[in-house]
Amino acid sequence: MRDEDDLIDYEPCSYCGEEVPADIVRCPKCGNFTDGAGPKGKGGSAWDRKKVAVVIVVVLTLAAFLLTSMGGC
Ligand SMILES: [Zn+2]
Repeated sequence: MRDEDDLIDYEPCSYCGEEVPADIVRCPKCGNFTDGAGPKGKGGSAWDRKKVAVVIVVVLTLAAFLLTSMGGC
């Protein structure tokens, strides 16, 4: 909620710490997405990324298993 429309809302990039407009999704300084998932983001995001990695590994393993079982038909 902004009171003044002519004032841009700034927030620190979660990767390089640079102050970037909160409206943009990508930091112009380091090119990373300023979604708070970076090393300087809010706590808990590291666990989320770990969780995503685990899900990807599980899906890939499942896909490989399905492909293998289908090929051995
Ligand atoms: Zn940055």
